Amino acid sequence: GGEDKIMSFSKSKELFADAKEVIPGGVNSPVRAFSAVDAEPVFIEEAKGSKLYDADGNEYIDYVGSWGPMIVGHGHPQVVETVQQEAAKGTSFGTPTKLETEMAELVVDAVPSIEKVRMVNSGTEATMSALRLARGYTGKDKIIKLTGCYHGHGDSLLIDAGSGVTTLGIPGSPGVPESIAQETIAAPYNDLEAIEEIFVEYGDNIAAVILEPVTGNMGVIEPKEGYLEGLREITDEYESLLVFDEVMTGFRVAYGGVQERYGVTPDLTCLGKIIGGGLPVGAYGGKEEIMDHIAPDGPVYQAGTLSGNPLAMAAGIETLKLLQEPGVYEELEEKSAKLTAGFKDNLNDLDLPYCQSRVGAMFSLFFTDQKVVDYSTVQTCDTEAFSLYFRKMLEEGVYLGCSQFEAGFMSLAHTDKDIEKTIEANYNALKAVKEN
Ligand code: PMP
Repeated sequence: GGEDKIMSFSKSKELFADAKEVIPGGVNSPVRAFSAVDAEPVFIEEAKGSKLYDADGNEYIDYVGSWGPMIVGHGHPQVVETVQQEAAKGTSFGTPTKLETEMAELVVDAVPSIEKVRMVNSGTEATMSALRLARGYTGKDKIIKLTGCYHGHGDSLLIDAGSGVTTLGIPGSPGVPESIAQETIAAPYNDLEAIEEIFVEYGDNIAAVILEPVTGNMGVIEPKEGYLEGLREITDEYESLLVFDEVMTGFRVAYGGVQERYGVTPDLTCLGKIIGGGLPVGAYGGKEEIMDHIAPDGPVYQAGTLSGNPLAMAAGIETLKLLQEPGVYEELEEKSAKLTAGFKDNLNDLDLPYCQSRVGAMFSLFFTDQKVVDYSTVQTCDTEAFSLYFRKMLEEGVYLGCSQFEAGFMSLAHTDKDIEKTIEANYNALKAVKEN
């Protein structure tokens, strides 16, 4: 049982106070501040396998995995070794390297829509670049994005976004010019009619529809049957591009991402997280005919000093190779199913009406009794209940995403014992929520 556990967070508290003196909010990315869960962040010093270790010596079973990348576990010996070997040869050359071709070949082989791929340094860059390409290729200006989907912090995409934007309740962001915001049209997720209406009105000027085909940044929501197919049809009809943001889902819900798992092929795909093996990476790719519009082959400009960085390529390549081993995705599926089945038993035993969702190795526990299908249903969640749940789980030694609107991530490093301990912690935390 998790009763009366006393955990100290005093070192983390000190470190956070120091950080706030010199870093806005003490963090280099807003959700890390724990502000949505009435807590202060823990400062991590080391991670190994499924575990995080903080400055106070506390150990956590980690279901954040650096927000997705760490699918083979933290500090995997093969990943660490290859990064060390490459680092000894030099950390950046600003020239082409063989590693970049190797990485591109792995991505092209894996992802159905991708014939050519360009590496960048973050998911944000990937989506920004994909949209520029979509606009440059089609000669059209407007884009459709879906409410609650997060695609990084590029100007055009900070409109009705999920993740930290939702967590902090920010509708858009000051600093995004109205003239740019006007070119983005937001529509609800899982609502094909809404998309059709927009196309009827603006159809000749829509460069692309961009979405998280399975969402993670408002929690895990699956596309309704026929939804992705419908988007494929309508974008084809209006000669606009379908862009899947698979920064989170790529190499996670299946080796080839959502497009492999659901059998719908977009024109362009954005990647990040897992393909960098924990180093800073993003990528965008698609049909050769479209990708050939990028400089230096074509006129659409996009570049990067550190793009295709050898350390990031090495970490990513090794991670993808580990994911090619037989049975890996079955194992992720089984472990994740075992975890959420345990949570379900706990919800039943405690007679709590909350809902769960899971696609492959990403999962959510929504503190609502409504079926979550889009942003408006996810808004029915009791975020105070989540907040208490989060803090209790932390005290039980389980590290979750610090917002109701984030996904949980399973890794290959999680053991049966980890999962059993997590299920027990979940019972204790849910009990505390119920008794509150
Ligand atoms: N797209 C999706 C689907 C994401 O989940 C994220 C990051 N959580 C991004 C884009 C942005 O990636 P980055 O934080 O690397 O800029």
